[in-house]
Amino acid sequence: MNTLPATADVVIIGGGVMGTSTAYHLALKGCKDVLLLEREPFLGTQATGRCAGGIRYQFSTEINVRLSQLSLPMLDRFEEELEQPIDRRRLGYLFLLTTQESIANFRKIVDMQHRLGVATEWLTPEEIARRVPVLNLEGVLAGTNNADDGLADPNSVVQGYASGARRLGAKLMTEVSVTDIQVTGGQITGVVTDQGAIATPVVVNAAGPWLGQVGEMAGVDIPVVPLRRQIVVTGPMPDLPPDFPFVIEFERSLYFHPEGEGLLTGMSNPNEEIGFDQSVDRDWEWVHLEAAVERLPMLEDAGLANRWAGLYEVSPDAHPILGRIPQVKGLYCVGGFSGHGFMHGPICGLLLAEEILDGRAQALDISSLYIDRFEQGQTLTEYNVV
Ligand SMILES: Cc1cc2nc3c(=O)[nH]c(=O)nc-3n(C[C@H](O)[C@H](O)[C@H](O)COP(=O)(O)OP(=O)(O)OC[C@H]3O[C@@H](n4cnc5c(N)ncnc54)[C@H](O)[C@@H]3O)c2cc1C
Repeated sequence: MNTLPATADVVIIGGGVMGTSTAYHLALKGCKDVLLLEREPFLGTQATGRCAGGIRYQFSTEINVRLSQLSLPMLDRFEEELEQPIDRRRLGYLFLLTTQESIANFRKIVDMQHRLGVATEWLTPEEIARRVPVLNLEGVLAGTNNADDGLADPNSVVQGYASGARRLGAKLMTEVSVTDIQVTGGQITGVVTDQGAIATPVVVNAAGPWLGQVGEMAGVDIPVVPLRRQIVVTGPMPDLPPDFPFVIEFERSLYFHPEGEGLLTGMSNPNEEIGFDQSVDRDWEWVHLEAAVERLPMLEDAGLANRWAGLYEVSPDAHPILGRIPQVKGLYCVGGFSGHGFMHGPICGLLLAEEILDGRAQALDISSLYIDRFEQGQTLTEYNVV
């Protein structure tokens, strides 16, 4: 039974990977009175539960590579720390490049990755053909791969953090919708829900694609918008090589990875309009599947097992908004990852817990991710958005 407490030291809005990781890390650092509110019947059913589960070091900005360098090792030791297996798989992430322009950009990016200690390798089309002979490599000029990239199971990560947080005394409640945030004299004083009010000095906005709506409740403009992305999962594909990697045809944002006995595939619609619609766009699915069969002809014989759509939470520079919101004392935000937030959930929950409890994130300087970068014109640009 849900019994809403009257007060909490910290209220987290949203029970995806960001909210649950933040709850766990706050509780781990000794904050006992943590309350997480999720409006759906279960945790992790929105962006996190609908994501492709990809985790990678291959990013184009230093800050994103550094987030991966902190976050992926947390996933590597997740089971030991949280007693929850998460099906971490090192399949590699193979980017297929089909234009000279992207090759030139990836040259700079891979140099930066090497400088930071990420062992991304360049592959010729012949090397790619030897590694993944089932791909049609027409038009592919080169590729990059990082053997440490791969997959983890998003639902298991959410469950692990949720159970870990509860064991440490945090309260996580579902089917509670936050409808307003109370601010008095520029300071958070509470939240209002469909089941009553809670007094609190600290609110974490971890509402994913709904970050902007929750920001508005506190009178703050958070520039994050929802964008539909969709996925198809095939039935069994017995001829799929067991070492088939996470493959991304970069220019078309077309990707595949092994899923169960089949394959998961997605392709981003460049003309998708901003909005909360999560129904599957069958016209786009058709375009997607045609492109997928072209690149991986054996897909033609595969049956369709499942399909769904979910929402990216997109920020203007494809980087998260992380940390305090200066206009309102006690308000914090984590979101806007623009398609790659699952993998950075572990470290961002820790960084936010440090920001709240220690006054400043300790594990990494996150000042370049503060919301005021937009006002100050100091935005970043992530090129490797899928
Ligand atoms: C199709 C797809 C594929 C993706 N693939 C990858 C990938 O391969 N790798 C990767 O790293 N990332 C991927 N992502 C991105 C990743 O899923 C997100 O960046 C990440 O899950 C965001 O987590 P979150 O906790 O911020 O959001 P969510 O998981 O959406 O959680 C936010 C929660 O807030 C709740 N909420 C909102 N408003 C309220 C309110 N008023 N009151 C109470 N609760 C509220 C929502 O119900 C929701 O459960 C993908 C996303 C999609 C859609």
